[in-house]
Amino acid sequence: MLPLRPSRWLALPDTLHERIAPTPVPDPVLAAWNPRVARDLGLPESREAARPLTALLAGNVVPAGVATLATGYAGHQFGTWVPQLGDGRAILLGELVTPHHQPWEIQLKGAGRTKWSRMGDGRAVLRSTIREFLASAAMEGLGVPTTRALAITTSPEPVYREREETAAILTRVAPSHARFGHVEWLASRGEHETMRTLVDHVIEHHSPSLLARPLAERHAAWFEAVVTRTARLMAQWTAVGFAHGVMNTDNFSLLGLTLDYGPFGWMERYEPGFICNHTDHGGRYAFDQQPRVGLWNCVRLGEALHPLVDEASAIAALERYRATYEEAIAAAMHGKLGLATQHLDDIDLVAEWFALLERTGADFTRAFRALSAWVPGEVDALRTEIPDHAGLDAWLVRYADRVAHEPRSHAERHAAMRAVNPAYVLRNWVAQEVIVAAEDGNFAPLATLLEVLARPFDAHPEAERWGHPPARDSAPVVVSCSS
Ligand code: AMP
Ligand code: MG
Repeated sequence: MLPLRPSRWLALPDTLHERIAPTPVPDPVLAAWNPRVARDLGLPESREAARPLTALLAGNVVPAGVATLATGYAGHQFGTWVPQLGDGRAILLGELVTPHHQPWEIQLKGAGRTKWSRMGDGRAVLRSTIREFLASAAMEGLGVPTTRALAITTSPEPVYREREETAAILTRVAPSHARFGHVEWLASRGEHETMRTLVDHVIEHHSPSLLARPLAERHAAWFEAVVTRTARLMAQWTAVGFAHGVMNTDNFSLLGLTLDYGPFGWMERYEPGFICNHTDHGGRYAFDQQPRVGLWNCVRLGEALHPLVDEASAIAALERYRATYEEAIAAAMHGKLGLATQHLDDIDLVAEWFALLERTGADFTRAFRALSAWVPGEVDALRTEIPDHAGLDAWLVRYADRVAHEPRSHAERHAAMRAVNPAYVLRNWVAQEVIVAAEDGNFAPLATLLEVLARPFDAHPEAERWGHPPARDSAPVVVSCSS
């Protein structure tokens, strides 16, 4: 049994949660286990040793003395206000105190219906569970803030989407799953005191340094911190070529974590307007729209927080978003180009690099990785990635000139670049390959891919294939909100 303690949400007013037990599934199997997450939680690292937890992670047993619950929230979905969403299929089991004395929430996603399930079945299919499991590990490996995924528990229980599939339950863990939508929900219901309690609770547990601020400033300072974290997160997504796909305010974390992986995609061919979500016809959440949408979401949060944060303070915090994003993205791009110093013309150098990638349809990840090994005169690897050789050579003249003014040697620069430009991201075709094997009962490729994504900056000769875009003649993998 896990040494769980009751969720801190239980101390919050009842309107925020429903006490609900998970719905059991038949014949659960612990199909995947993330040893790094397990270690961070103080749990056994091997899946074998974790097997006794299967019934618990399937939602089939609930530890004595622990009340499980689902939380209520609202949100703006594709720009439209939806007054009630809530956890329709995610049930908080309780909390585990890590060896570093941090309480982490343990949530079962796909654990059955709650009062917020609306027309849904409360379940998740294996395919979407694998995608979230891998994406959280990939983000962790890339150093991008994210919720984490400890385990996948499968069951033969049928789940109906476009076709019949089977159920799986994801064990998701995070210091908190609190969302922008929780605050919006309370605001729309006029429950200002409950909102204050929630925000104070989040501050106390997740931004305790703000407790030193006078009460009158505390909420504004916290909002500013959320805006800052969101702006930085958007820059981190941009830097690794990640598109979230469904940046609704209910999928935005008050802790600045990447949350709710659905039809996400890592960009392969560089295309600023890349749309990963098949159902996002208007491209609202296209790759290059993400920084703007991050701000839009923060504005919605600021509006919801009106009872706690006065308009002038909220606007001041929001006005800093852009500078925070620009500073973060400039630092990230300097890192990706291997520049330890700053120069006025760097912005043009970066813009021309991206123009070259866009014009040639180069693979975002591979192009940066190839650049991370470039020395004057050795252009083969880059030429493989960037077919416009004349354009590449012209850009390299400028780049060579620029790196000549750097204090670092080529070797030092390469090492620094290889630590920020991954060789591996979670490509849709790779995820799909692993999903197809898992649907056939073979979880070995999933475990192998997990190890690769956990160390995406290292070479993995055995998985070299997974570092490439899909074969030209392969059918595109279509991902949408249905999961
Ligand atoms: P998502 O697209 O996963 O962010 O979900 C949006 C909303 O729909 C959230 O309130 C979810 O809890 C809910 N939801 C998604 N899928 C299901 C499902 N199969 N059953 C019940 N609720 C669901
Ligand atoms: Mg969601």
